[in-house]
Amino acid sequence: MTNAAQIDPDNLDFDPDALRAKYRAERDKRLRPDGNNQYTRIEGNLAHYVDDPYGAVMPRAGQSDLIEYLIIGGGFGGLVTAARLKEAGFEDVRILEHGGDFGGTWYWNRYPGAACDTEAYIYLPLCEETGYLPRHKFAFQSEILAHAQRIGRHYDLYEGALFHTAVTDLAWQEDAGRWLVRTNRGDALQARFVIMSNGPLNTPKLPGVPGIEAFEGHTFHTSRWDYAYTGGSSEGHLTGLQDKRVAIIGTGATAVQCIPHLGASAKALYVYQRTPSSIDVRNNRPTDPAWAASLTPGWQKARMENFNVLTSGGVVEQDLVMDGWTEIIRNLISMANFRGSAIPREDVPRLMELADFQKMNAIRARVDEVVEDPATAAALKPWYRQFCKRPCFHDEYLPTFNQPNVHLIDTAGQGVERITARGVVANGVETPVDCIIFATGFEVGTAFTHRAGYDVTGRDGLKLSEAWAEGMRSLHGLFVHGFPNLLITSNAQSGFTTNFPHAMDERAQHMAYLFGALKQRGAKRLEATAEGEAAWVDTMLKASRMSEAFQAECTPGYYNNEGQPNPKSAQNGSYGRGPVRFFELLAGWREVGDCDGLRFD
Ligand code: NDP
Repeated sequence: MTNAAQIDPDNLDFDPDALRAKYRAERDKRLRPDGNNQYTRIEGNLAHYVDDPYGAVMPRAGQSDLIEYLIIGGGFGGLVTAARLKEAGFEDVRILEHGGDFGGTWYWNRYPGAACDTEAYIYLPLCEETGYLPRHKFAFQSEILAHAQRIGRHYDLYEGALFHTAVTDLAWQEDAGRWLVRTNRGDALQARFVIMSNGPLNTPKLPGVPGIEAFEGHTFHTSRWDYAYTGGSSEGHLTGLQDKRVAIIGTGATAVQCIPHLGASAKALYVYQRTPSSIDVRNNRPTDPAWAASLTPGWQKARMENFNVLTSGGVVEQDLVMDGWTEIIRNLISMANFRGSAIPREDVPRLMELADFQKMNAIRARVDEVVEDPATAAALKPWYRQFCKRPCFHDEYLPTFNQPNVHLIDTAGQGVERITARGVVANGVETPVDCIIFATGFEVGTAFTHRAGYDVTGRDGLKLSEAWAEGMRSLHGLFVHGFPNLLITSNAQSGFTTNFPHAMDERAQHMAYLFGALKQRGAKRLEATAEGEAAWVDTMLKASRMSEAFQAECTPGYYNNEGQPNPKSAQNGSYGRGPVRFFELLAGWREVGDCDGLRFD
């Protein structure tokens, strides 16, 4: 990790006011009135950008099966839910998945260098259950995808799974007490329970620039990597690019991971940067066999909880994971220790800001240490608080800019201007290229129904888009009044943790409990009551910790709705008291046992 030395808050070696002013100036350069509407949706003539390059869509007949538990989405959310249901004795569980296999984001995002920034020992779910220990501290895409498939095999989830299948319509049939699920493959399935695990960051987007269709060279989005063109694999060796001039647009977490491989293979690489990412130390290493041998049953849950407590601002005796995510918290604690006392509550925001300044100073110093050309180094320095954007961890990204074939085209916050038949225009200069790769991310904050690809029709014809027109409404993020037997598993109105699969597993175990409670009561349907839902929305609003002030100070990005913090973010976001309290809240609710806020029939 970049070394953030212990500091005395009353005797700083940097000027917080000057940093605040610099951060604001950099943010102001990037604010734009069209905010989140700036991007180009992938539809119509651009629809080919989301075709599956990894596997052919095999013809099959439409189905009309009766299913007890239908899960939409075969990423880790769907897989863990299916696994916990099967463990609890619910057998008729089927997964319907847009991709050609299980894996979700790890099926689609197999760009060179793709890897997970959260430690593999806590990120890969069900390691103990499936008898698998990751090979490195941070896992690469192929290992993660293979683990998703392992879960699929271990729990017999391939049986009856529908791949390359997307829901087009989901409607409650009151008389049958079932959901009618129509798909793009001609299916008309009937499911008693539907669990939506659609996942975030699943709808790729393109930059809001003219001319994308005019480009005559080769082009694709990072989430649909074209290895037929580049050669190589997610491990790199892109031999097809040896004689190619390649442009990559975007420098977010995805670009940071694939740029070293592009730099290693392309004849010339042009990196179009609007805002630099913060690049912390990665320090990946193989799994230590002695440590592996020392693990005792229950180790993974304990490790997940240790990370979760620490990254939620709690105190643990020992930081088991010791990575970049936990470091900023340790840094804060070390500052408090310097004063020899616990942190008074009112001091926490100021200390957090100082810890952040110190951390980002270390991040910026690392750029100077690694990047030889001073102008390039200056352009690669991020000027914002660390959690304004997704922090990145990489040891080969910055050195890539020392290569003579790699050119950083910094746009001083303005972005690419347009695409032409020959190449990319930025800062008024056209650069001809053979290939343009869009590392421009995914839709966030757009209509839920657009990202899901379908609306949901509940009781009495009520649409989910109507029920949520004034903001999300749910009980615990899982149930929506008016939508019987529909469960939604996502971060919204639920406990958010950096380690997504941990939260997925907590929700999965909660769902298994709920289906057990339903069976015990001899009931066939369950639904949030209007009162239960209203009470949870109220809790969400009261618990909101989302500081609009923090968001407004941030450089634009998908974390703050592109510089225009959404007034509904408290309601549509995650439970503000954090994942530890949320998981405790669900456990307490189960312990009481009366399923308050739900109605069983
Ligand atoms: P991001 O949304 O983070 O990045 C999009 C990039 O495109 C930004 O650099 C953005 O610049 C840039 N951009 C947009 N429009 C233009 C333009 N007109 N001109 C130039 N640049 C432009 O998407 P990513 O795919 O990188 O990452 C998405 C998320 O996926 C991450 O935040 C993370 O949550 C997840 N991820 C996780 C990984 C893991 O380790 N688990 C690895 C990779 C991704 P600007 O910043 O100025 O908006």
